[in-house]
Amino acid sequence: MLTTHQHPKIRADHVRRQAVVYIRQSSIQQVRGNRESTARQYALAEQAKALGWSAKAVQIIDEDQGRSGSSAEHRQGFKKLLAEIGAGQVGIVLALEASRLARSSVDWHRLVEICVVTQTLLADEASVYDPRDVNDRLLLGVKGTLSEAELFTLRCRLHEGRWNKARRGELARSLPVGYARTDVGQAIFDPDRQVQARLHYIFRLFARHKVARRVLVQLVREKLKLPAQIWGGPRHGEVKWKDPDLSDVIRILHNPTYAGAYVYGQKEYDSFDRSPTNGKAKVHPRPLTAWPVCLQSVYPAYITWEQFVTNQEMLRSNTYRIDKRGAPRQGRALLQGLAYCGRCGHRMAVFYYSTKEKRAPGYGCVHDNQKHGGPTCQCMSSKGIDEAVTRLFLSAVSPAKIHIALQALEELEADHAEARKQWDLQLQRAEYEVELARRRYESTDPANRLVAAELEAQWEANLQQRDQLQRQRAEMERKQIQPLGEADRHRIKELSADLDRVWQAATTSMEERKTLLRFLIKRVHLDGVTREGKIRIDVEWHTGAHTTTTIDRLQVGVWAPKTPAVAVERIRELLPEHDYAAIAAKLNAEEFRTAKGLAYDDKSVGYVARTRGWARGKGKHGKQGKDRMSNLCLM
Ligand SMILES: [Zn+2]
Repeated sequence: MLTTHQHPKIRADHVRRQAVVYIRQSSIQQVRGNRESTARQYALAEQAKALGWSAKAVQIIDEDQGRSGSSAEHRQGFKKLLAEIGAGQVGIVLALEASRLARSSVDWHRLVEICVVTQTLLADEASVYDPRDVNDRLLLGVKGTLSEAELFTLRCRLHEGRWNKARRGELARSLPVGYARTDVGQAIFDPDRQVQARLHYIFRLFARHKVARRVLVQLVREKLKLPAQIWGGPRHGEVKWKDPDLSDVIRILHNPTYAGAYVYGQKEYDSFDRSPTNGKAKVHPRPLTAWPVCLQSVYPAYITWEQFVTNQEMLRSNTYRIDKRGAPRQGRALLQGLAYCGRCGHRMAVFYYSTKEKRAPGYGCVHDNQKHGGPTCQCMSSKGIDEAVTRLFLSAVSPAKIHIALQALEELEADHAEARKQWDLQLQRAEYEVELARRRYESTDPANRLVAAELEAQWEANLQQRDQLQRQRAEMERKQIQPLGEADRHRIKELSADLDRVWQAATTSMEERKTLLRFLIKRVHLDGVTREGKIRIDVEWHTGAHTTTTIDRLQVGVWAPKTPAVAVERIRELLPEHDYAAIAAKLNAEEFRTAKGLAYDDKSVGYVARTRGWARGKGKHGKQGKDRMSNLCLM
């Protein structure tokens, strides 16, 4: 053992000060091997004593657990260490590997520099270093750099290791509900037969209905619950039964484990696209064919792999777009963002159900259906409603009113501009303080490292404060309604001069119509249920006034007008020999009319054919389209 007298670098003034044993455990280090045991770390304290420090003068700083071996509490690990060294209270710092004291080589070089000023020694198991000695200092610098490079390599290796393990199917994956593990870790079906049966039932229902929401609706109707695993807590891993919701059903249908497959890398993390609020990398799902690890027949399977692939295609083709966003956008539903359910008050979503020929918009109150698989409150085609609201709008609106609305908007924008100015001032002030702190720091005597460190910290704090302000301001900007630009405003004035004509003009975009509408209309409440076959439209103006009107329902559904049976029969006769357009021509010549009393065209004939399952070579498509619509309109 070395003693004070034997070690030339340790002087009496070192021993008079404290010896600090610094323990740092990061997960990387633990992976590196479990060599760094508590015993070895406490051996450092013994080493300090051997080097000449008394037991009372030895202090242990354990960064990760915020635990101090002797008296004081040292919660902030490295910072605290720097502060104590800076205050000249520390004679020597001992760590398992001295260069692992700091997280980055920047921290490390700063530590070494402070040790130079305060004449503090650094020591690891192998040696004692005096940073004031040129050779030692060089060595410490190299060690720090090497250590950082090594950490980086380790991290890469760790990442690679996970992937290698995953490619062999050995990386532990948690199993979804419906599976259990034996004592030796083998995956088996959950021994609870009821759990198994319920999962089988869900897959059977989906095979029958081909729509996840209908699976949910049936479960709800039959009052069946879903098994779910409990995460965390004393009952972790146990199965509980819960009321189903759509996300549960979809999660089960999407999980490849049920097809017996071991999959890794279903999602991709985009480190260049991070959330501004929490800094997390955005996640993008990879398509099934691009899953990097996909080993089949690893687990006992509820469905075949082919079935799973079919299900994924089905789920993808079923997703119709539900649009809940409020900003006006291109799209044929005029009341997007303005339509509210006249029955329950929820905002109605715009949905498009698409067939090959068209994408027909409608308004639906699907809140309850989306959430809990309850019935859809109501849904209706947007066509008649949009026309009625347009009529109301054009008759109620004069150019003068639009000008008043624009003025009000200008006032609102002026308020925002004022708020923005306040923020700018605040930011300028923060900028100034950062600049001041920087100058203070740069003007200190470099020899006076202690003061410099303090000023640097101050500078750092100012920078952080400024960044936070900038983030807050950006957030505020994001939340505010986008102000109309000068060009928009000009265009709206132009439009309003001859509203009637302009509204109908082909050059006026749907977005412009929506923007115009929003000037005066706050909400439109729709009720298509209370009176059979009618839709009550209640327009709520920004002024608080209401205008109501009632229209006939056009919606395909219970009260929808039906294609006359004779016409349907005629279409069936003509189908084998003619295409849709030819049939339409014949029907028109024979003076048949559609359900709405109009002439036939290829689309209306196609519709009749598809909905009766007579579609020409696209039977699957037609049937599915109908299923989806009727699913949405579960009234
Ligand atoms: Zn509703």
